[in-house]
Amino acid sequence: MTRLEQKTVENLPKVELHCHLDGSVSKKTLRNIANEQGYELPENEEALCTLVEAGEGCQSLLEYIGKFETVLDCLQVESALEEVAYELTGDVAKENVTYIEVRFAPMLSTRKGLSAERVIQSVVEGLKKGERDFGVKSNGILCMMRGHQEKDNLEIVELTKEFLGQGIVGIDLAGDEANYPPKEYKKIIKLAVEYDLPITLHAGECGCATNVQDSVDLGATRIGHGIALKDDPEILNYCISKGITVEICPNSNLQTKTVDKWENYPFEEFQKAGLKLAVSTDNRAVSNTNLTKEFMTLDRLYQIGYKGMEELTLNGIQASFADETTKKILKKQVLESYQLVH
Ligand SMILES: [Zn+2]
Repeated sequence: MTRLEQKTVENLPKVELHCHLDGSVSKKTLRNIANEQGYELPENEEALCTLVEAGEGCQSLLEYIGKFETVLDCLQVESALEEVAYELTGDVAKENVTYIEVRFAPMLSTRKGLSAERVIQSVVEGLKKGERDFGVKSNGILCMMRGHQEKDNLEIVELTKEFLGQGIVGIDLAGDEANYPPKEYKKIIKLAVEYDLPITLHAGECGCATNVQDSVDLGATRIGHGIALKDDPEILNYCISKGITVEICPNSNLQTKTVDKWENYPFEEFQKAGLKLAVSTDNRAVSNTNLTKEFMTLDRLYQIGYKGMEELTLNGIQASFADETTKKILKKQVLESYQLVH
């Protein structure tokens, strides 16, 4: 098997399904939006890193989630939301991500009075501008938040319905999984199913395979992380039989201590079982990663080669919430480009 070469991986077309907007604001963009609002950040680069990056020393999902606070403070105005969405598409264009689904929780940007609707419009505007300037096709996914009030999450379901096909393609549930399992959101997700909204849910990020099964039973066709499936062959097989695609985010999974060390990462186990996997970054800034780095990591650990990278990329296209025409174009690009490296 030919090993991956960084430059080639960077140049090959890639797609990303699981990327949080607030976790993917580069330090340069963060300094820009903070400056514009007179928000003070540590001048020292290292101090800023400690504030906004998880790093290897991160001990848990909750500690990881804490790294979003500074950025969120700066994401309460329309101009900043539009700017970070725009800059993100510029960042991913540099490593030839041809399609990205960017997820964000509108309610987290309403602390200073902005309406959730305006939050969505601002992000979609930034993504559209990015598409025009950098050629990256993108769509948004709205996140409901674990621990938020039911009425707020219900509003997100309504807004996903309202914006569906207008820059938004699906709905997610994010946040503290251990304390707020998916079954508590049954009523809300049922409404999303009634509206026929594409659903991907964060589950199996904190050791509980039952949460993955519950999420699938509630109507998710994709699962964010799903790592806990490694401990439950029965639920793993259930997901395979249902055709579920799991969005794995290797470096993030290590930082949140979803797995304690690479030796216990279930990539090969999942592959062998026949579970459909797609690779994402989760949070480019908080996890200090990009898609090239994630593929290089998988090649270093499991020698996936270009064949494996192509397969994972095609899985991503297949499971994406993009329309069929877009999927066809993306697939054609991938098949043509990867042919040259096999
Ligand atoms: Zn995530």
